[in-house]
Amino acid sequence: MRQIVFASTNRGKYKEFKKSFAGLPVEFLFAGDFENQKKIEVEETGSSYEENAILKAKAYAESLGLTALADDSGLEVAALDGKPGIYSARMGNTDQERLSWLLTSLDGQENRAAQFMCAIALVEPNGVTQTVRGTCQGKIIAAPQGESGFGYDPVFVPNGYDKTFAELGIDVKDKISHRANAIKKIKEILK
Ligand code: IMP
Repeated sequence: MRQIVFASTNRGKYKEFKKSFAGLPVEFLFAGDFENQKKIEVEETGSSYEENAILKAKAYAESLGLTALADDSGLEVAALDGKPGIYSARMGNTDQERLSWLLTSLDGQENRAAQFMCAIALVEPNGVTQTVRGTCQGKIIAAPQGESGFGYDPVFVPNGYDKTFAELGIDVKDKISHRANAIKKIKEILK
């Protein structure tokens, strides 16, 4: 069976991907389980989600000699000219800080349109690279609602719903999120 390593030391994210890949002809490994992964530090210096996902996957593919898969994601807010985008994780040190940065930036703003983006890269040890992208459109509400999820989930209401990702919970999010949409596409490739 083809081995693919998840190019991240975030075990929670690995588990989510592994669940989605159930039934595929793939043995999905976790980089955190490899001894020498500790030496791999990848700086996300790319100028797009795809570039950052490729940087991460390439570093692990080269180091471990295995096909590697990585993702990169972010939130794009129309009224902020697409910010924070690829810098979504850097708008504060905690989810709480990032949420307050966002809500303060949008204070008094009528246009609340936003989208989550996710790119997934699959990189083989010989450098052959494939990427896919998933999106999820929605809007940013004025104050956080709900407890589930992470990041900007408590203020993001996906189109077609009247609750935030944090209220809708993981079962709905797993069907309609940017990551879910990118995973659907990468599964087609892995089949
Ligand atoms: P990364 O792809 O792990 O680098 O995540 C980038 C950042 O985007 C995260 O730290 C979150 O702030 C934000 N983000 C990405 N995906 C989601 C999501 O599904 N819900 C909420 N925030 C997200």
